Amino acid sequence: MKMFDSAAFEAHEDVHSFYDEKSGLKAIIAVHSTALGPAAGGCRMWPYADFQAALTDALKLSRAMSYKNAMADIGLGGGKSVIIGDPRTGKTPELFEAFGRAVESLGGRYWTAEDVGVSPADLAHARKTTRYVAGLEGHAAASGDPSPVTAEGVFRGVRLCVRRALGRELDGVTVAIQGVGHVGAYLAEKLAAAGAKLVVADVNEAALRMVAEWTGARIVAPDEIFDVEAEVFAPCALGGAVNAQTLPRLKARIVAGAANNQLAGPEIGQALFERGVLYAPDYVINGGGIINVAGEIRALEAGTAFDAHWVAVKLDRLTETLEEVLDRAAAEKRPPHEVADATARARIAAARAA
Ligand code: NAD
Repeated sequence: MKMFDSAAFEAHEDVHSFYDEKSGLKAIIAVHSTALGPAAGGCRMWPYADFQAALTDALKLSRAMSYKNAMADIGLGGGKSVIIGDPRTGKTPELFEAFGRAVESLGGRYWTAEDVGVSPADLAHARKTTRYVAGLEGHAAASGDPSPVTAEGVFRGVRLCVRRALGRELDGVTVAIQGVGHVGAYLAEKLAAAGAKLVVADVNEAALRMVAEWTGARIVAPDEIFDVEAEVFAPCALGGAVNAQTLPRLKARIVAGAANNQLAGPEIGQALFERGVLYAPDYVINGGGIINVAGEIRALEAGTAFDAHWVAVKLDRLTETLEEVLDRAAAEKRPPHEVADATARARIAAARAA
């Protein structure tokens, strides 16, 4: 076990592993930083091959949450939890109650929420044993589905990039959207309303048909989305959409979308920069969802109702932050992803020092 030497470790404050014999829970909670506030990040349930794979994922995701939360300016640090197990067969109420006890044992240093493989119904079981859970339904502080807020932030980010890189408004601009799920579908609606021409791809036929009906989007096969003649490529499906194979195929001048980890690696960010493609760093442009969750944590901590105005103000600020990152990248002739990382690290370091 080489946790401290792992590239993903990067100064985590604490990393915990939990085992509960009765429920069979095997979980890791990684707390990257609490400098800006309690660490917040979802819980992922996945059938990891072994403990090392789970640990590496927890560390990577936790650090990513730290950066995302720092850029969203929401008074939260970054953390993440993973449960080792198959979400299709391994879920029981007892497992999530045991997970809740694990979260509770950190005394509020970490707030959990849903992520891949974990639903609000699962979290309701965790809530029986800890109060540090966001993303539940049916209470005054509840924030609801974050996807519309994420989509609004991404929409504004795309509009900003189009203004900067193309010197025009969205009317008549072609946007290729990969993935029209929760966020992609809302984004498609907003872009169509602004006059953009859409080309969409998804592996889910029903979702595609619905979005095409609403927006008049042209449908292409999943693999064809990389070859589309479009000014903007908006990855809104899974991670790694822009990689060594797809990059040479892209015609877009802008890459801006909702997906997490859009670039297969930092070298792809460098390659986009060298090709003159404007890239909106994913964890900045898609921060609307975590802002929404932060609204819930804030309300739960204060014992008040969810404050949609606070979320709206933070979302405005998020677009300004994206603009500042792009300004600095242009002024320093550096790729935006590098500037975003540097800005996030500086914000965390300044809070640590204070
Ligand atoms: P989702 O699962 O609802 O949508 C993803 C869509 O991508 C699905 O319709 C799926 O069928 C499609 N898809 C999967 N593989 C594909 C492929 N190879 N080609 C084309 N389409 C494919 O998820 P979502 O909530 O809309 O999130 C989309 C992305 O945005 C994810 O990467 C997620 O991590 C990220 N994100 C979401 C939020 C949020 O608020 N939901 C916030 C921040 C980031």
